[in-house]
Amino acid sequence: MTTYPEETQNIDTDTNSLMYIVDRPDNIFVRGDGMWLYDNKGKKYLDYLQGWAVNCLGHSHPAIIEALTKQANLLINPSPAFYNEPMIKLSKILTDNSHFDKVFFTNTGAEANEGAIKLARKWGQKNKKGAFEIITFIDSFHGRTLATMSASGKAGFDKIFPPKVEGFVKAEFNNLDSVKLLINDNTIGIMLEPIQGEAGVIPASKEFMQGLELLCREHNILLICDEVQSGCGRSGHLFAYQISGIKPHIMTLGKGIGGGVPLAALLSIEEISCFEAGDQGGTYNGNPLMTNVGFAVLETILQDGFLTQVQQKAQYLSDELKVLVKEFNLVGERGEGLLRALLLDGDYAKNIVIQAKNMTPYGVLLNAPRPNVLRFMPSLTVSYEELDLLIITLRELITAQKN
Ligand SMILES: *Cc1c(COP(=O)(O)O)cnc(C)c1O
Repeated sequence: MTTYPEETQNIDTDTNSLMYIVDRPDNIFVRGDGMWLYDNKGKKYLDYLQGWAVNCLGHSHPAIIEALTKQANLLINPSPAFYNEPMIKLSKILTDNSHFDKVFFTNTGAEANEGAIKLARKWGQKNKKGAFEIITFIDSFHGRTLATMSASGKAGFDKIFPPKVEGFVKAEFNNLDSVKLLINDNTIGIMLEPIQGEAGVIPASKEFMQGLELLCREHNILLICDEVQSGCGRSGHLFAYQISGIKPHIMTLGKGIGGGVPLAALLSIEEISCFEAGDQGGTYNGNPLMTNVGFAVLETILQDGFLTQVQQKAQYLSDELKVLVKEFNLVGERGEGLLRALLLDGDYAKNIVIQAKNMTPYGVLLNAPRPNVLRFMPSLTVSYEELDLLIITLRELITAQKN
């Protein structure tokens, strides 16, 4: 067992005052370090969730701690009506390393996507006679606000909290013809995740991405990439759209950009950056405490060799998962970079998640986005040894499952 700080041994474990939103395990997590999470009972867990693909540098990375503490001592919040230095630095590092020209910072991915939808609608008002329809995809996930739930193609989302926000029609992912069929005079754009995350890690094909770019050019509509999950190095490239060599008009970032703190961003190319005063805002937009962390994260990811090591580890993980696929006759393995999934030969992914967590002396935290799919979202700094520990655990639990 691990040692743990005295003060975490007698913490209050009465969770009754918290609003119910979903079933959660009893553990109360008190400390994180790289790929490891520690609970109040002193048990440690190898964390393949990392805050849901959020902690791209792992738990409590020194660069993040330094960015937070330094900035906390200097200036936390001058107000969204004023400029601050970290917001400028972060916007520049983003535009210097992409084809985008303009950045607006938000707190969550959903809020960044709301901004993308608003920007596209504004552009439609100005350039497409008030057109407002956006084509999105079956099984997509864009967030939990009313508009982003309506934009999402997640099963069940269309039935809760009526009425839905109008203006979203759903095509089939990786099926260009299904997109073509939905384009009409009221269309202003196509919005997609270059790698569908919540759907079970399904990468868009290069041909599909390139086909969408061409369709957008032909019909003078906008291509919007939701890179909340796939962006900021997760795919082994700074942004996943770069894999297909295309240039979307709008991109949203979240999760990884903050490395664990609430930060997200809406990016666009100059030509369509058409908000007027009062159209967009938010109390915490671009606050220096968060944007200073974002800058530290981007600086780290852009260091020489960082993305190469992500690609090498991704290849290693992919190869090792393929060995399991062969060994146990599983369906397959897929993903880009360190966003990967293992496709099982039955609906036992939830069992594996529970058993992995309950293992001793340490547990492994996994996610099952589908009954037959396990998803892996390690930190981009995961070690080969930690990848091996995952594979050993999977081998043990799949073997047990089959006996
Ligand atoms: C997580 C996620 C969101 C929502 O981000 P929040 O920060 O939870 O609002 C949007 N799009 C994608 C692709 C995501 O993975």
